[in-house]
Amino acid sequence: MPDRVLRAMDRAALDHRGPEFAAIVAACQDGLRHLYKTTRPVVIYPAAGHGAWEAALTNTSSPGDTILMAETGAFSGWWREMAESFGITVEYLAGDWRHGADPEAIEARLAEDRAGVIKAVAVVHNETSTGVTSRIADVGRAIDRASHPALFLVDNISSLASMDFRMDEWRIDVAIGGAQKGLMLPPGLGFTAVSEKAFRASQSARLPRNYWDWRAQLPDGLTPTFTCTPAVNLFFGLKESLDMLLEEGLDEVFARHARLAEAVRRAVRAWGLDLQSADPREHSNSVSAIRMPDGHDAEMVREACHSRANVVLAGGLRKLAGRVFRIGHLGDLNEPMILGTLAATELALAATSAPHTPGGTTAAIRYLAEN
Ligand code: PLP
Repeated sequence: MPDRVLRAMDRAALDHRGPEFAAIVAACQDGLRHLYKTTRPVVIYPAAGHGAWEAALTNTSSPGDTILMAETGAFSGWWREMAESFGITVEYLAGDWRHGADPEAIEARLAEDRAGVIKAVAVVHNETSTGVTSRIADVGRAIDRASHPALFLVDNISSLASMDFRMDEWRIDVAIGGAQKGLMLPPGLGFTAVSEKAFRASQSARLPRNYWDWRAQLPDGLTPTFTCTPAVNLFFGLKESLDMLLEEGLDEVFARHARLAEAVRRAVRAWGLDLQSADPREHSNSVSAIRMPDGHDAEMVREACHSRANVVLAGGLRKLAGRVFRIGHLGDLNEPMILGTLAATELALAATSAPHTPGGTTAAIRYLAEN
């Protein structure tokens, strides 16, 4: 979290129904629309990403509805379980956790569904557990080609503000984001950007909802209002973070992420280790999951990295527990931070006698020097 963001939040709260706060909220709406590349409103909840998931599902579905979801990893799995807990039937398109959602498979399934049983297609844009980024533009085109009326729900929690995202151009109906990743904020804000079609669907959706209800949060379909007390100080931080992103320039922010992510990938390759992401078109620019050779526990590398260098690598989730460690490379990040992380990781690999070829950090330096 950048100091600018922390300092912006370090002040007394304002009257959240007063004009000064209204101006901050309006600036945040403008900034978020820019990030989402949409003309549509973004409903901002005091919530974690799970809340925004729930808002997207409960505002668009009725009990017994079927949605088509792509298995990309741990997060698609948790979203699926949430949907099922609401009585939604999830057709879960099987995946191997090394690839993103398959646009052809989605198109084929929708083309088959002549009765229009499928009410929505749900995809996690950047699967944080695997470091795989699904090709959302291709999925949007696949839905179009199938001429299917399904809504398109996309979780962009770990791609927002780190990778290009085009809600309107990619014909997305609900885009689900959160504060604590590319926006460089503490956790506590959940976003749903709502298309006109999704807003219309919410008028007749029958899943019970109250806190999440767009009919209250977005009464005219265009202007978000707060039914509960907003997370006032997080808005101060959000405005500062959006200012920082727009000052740098979105294209520059995305290019910085791409370059630092590639430096990480060069290091991984030089170590002789594999990324969990198997298709170079889908390598994530916000997180890399690195596979440990069979018989070696990724948790030992994590523990050594933490205890010796005070650098926290993320662990493997669900079936990847112990199999991968993850390097987050998003948000307020520059060359020395990424090189420090790679050097600490290389130290941990050496200290735990993990099979690897030394020199990954040097390979990253070489890539950054030349690019
Ligand atoms: N979706 C993705 C892709 C995530 O990375 C996360 C959290 O890391 C979530 C959903 C859930 O967000 P939260 O933990 O804020 O509820």
